[in-house]
Amino acid sequence: MQHRSYSQIRKQLEEGQLTCVELIKNHLAVIDQKNSLNAFLSVYGNEAIARAIEVDQKIKNHTAGKLAGLVVGIKDLLCYKDHPLQGSSKILSGFISQFNATAVQRLLDEDAIIIGRQNCDEFGMGSSNENSAFAPVLNDLDNSRVSGGSSGGSAVAVQAGMCQVSLGTDTGGSVRQPAAFCGLVGLKPTYSRISRYGLAAYASSFDCIGILANHVEDIALVLEVIAGADEMDSTVSRKEVPSYSTEIYTHQKKFKIAYFRENIESDSLQEEIKSIFTDTIQKLKSDQYVVEPINFPLNEYVLPTYYILATAEASSNLSRYDGVRFGYRSPHTKDLSSLYKKTRSEGFGKEVQRRIMLGTFVLSASYYDAYYTKAQKVRRLIRDQMKKIFAHYDFILMPTTPTTAFKIGEHSSDPVEMYLADLFSVQANVAGIPAISIPCGEDKQGLPVGLQLLADDFEECKLLKFSKTILDQRPH
Ligand code: GLN
Repeated sequence: MQHRSYSQIRKQLEEGQLTCVELIKNHLAVIDQKNSLNAFLSVYGNEAIARAIEVDQKIKNHTAGKLAGLVVGIKDLLCYKDHPLQGSSKILSGFISQFNATAVQRLLDEDAIIIGRQNCDEFGMGSSNENSAFAPVLNDLDNSRVSGGSSGGSAVAVQAGMCQVSLGTDTGGSVRQPAAFCGLVGLKPTYSRISRYGLAAYASSFDCIGILANHVEDIALVLEVIAGADEMDSTVSRKEVPSYSTEIYTHQKKFKIAYFRENIESDSLQEEIKSIFTDTIQKLKSDQYVVEPINFPLNEYVLPTYYILATAEASSNLSRYDGVRFGYRSPHTKDLSSLYKKTRSEGFGKEVQRRIMLGTFVLSASYYDAYYTKAQKVRRLIRDQMKKIFAHYDFILMPTTPTTAFKIGEHSSDPVEMYLADLFSVQANVAGIPAISIPCGEDKQGLPVGLQLLADDFEECKLLKFSKTILDQRPH
């Protein structure tokens, strides 16, 4: 089924061929029918219908916002006032958000309709959505395969037609990797482009809200609404937010694109992804783009740098879940120390516990300099090297993932194997730059292959525009 873009839907809403209520009911029917995919943890059906009635009225009165009737799902790491927030973890059982995340608030202000809270890997830690305290999310194309993670529910919800757009989070690839596994477009903007206020922290210097959709245009529009300065988050850039949704249609020059030899030579890259990658390079060259191979000497340090720093930050961020103030509290406690220990060992899943321990280790007094300080220095070198590349090139083209969607359970026994699924996605997070994954073909089994484009800080417009060009030329 060809999914309609929001502008097509909006036109139908304006012309009275469709109502928001009908739209919501259609999505709710799909959610119901595809319940076994485990994409949603909560569905706000009645509320969404009530809001749809209001928005329909606003459309009639010509007072509707920019996103009137856009049906959005949000990852269970984003606060939505008076609704549960759990990060797919047992440790936040019973927790209710007391305020809206800035991104959520901005969607609501423009009359988007939030349909539910989406399953994910616990606190965003994982690459397959198997680390949810609830259930793994299944890929709608092949139910024996993973959705990708950690925003797996957000990806499958769009893939299966349960909503039009999802807000996910991307700390090391969690929007782009599931987008690639599900055949969607997934954008991780520049680190400081969107406020993190109301996003439950995993690794604060990497965490980024990202957008998943079928169409680049929809991502552009949502980004334009949610990006920009916010007095609740001092790390957000004050840089003006361009009108992405109109600028993507303006004329573009012939961009210069680089790709890394190390990526093509990587042993872990699935053969079919490699050939789609090289075919894309050829196609771009024949369309008169300059596409050149370059070396990235720090390549082998990117993934370790990410995992050292992300676990260090996670161990610190997750110390707030102690059973004292909110969320789960173990019933088996004798004193304060056992309350902490039991609550945390019963409340957190295995992978989260592993990362807290790894992070605590790299931050411990005797190893701090060897790991944490070193990794910070390497991070700076990686960012500097990337910045140098962008002085000469508009984009870096890369595979999004080493393989297409793998089988459920395939990488569960070895955590390092799972970490390797992030080989290509973490680079943009380590550097803090924007990146987008777009569907570029299929492997022999018909599973989608995603390629990603990376650009310099705040070049989202260029990224979206070029992605659209590539997608528009794709045979339908
Ligand atoms: N898979 C990576 C990790 O587990 C990235 C997760 C994310 O982006 N939230 O850390």
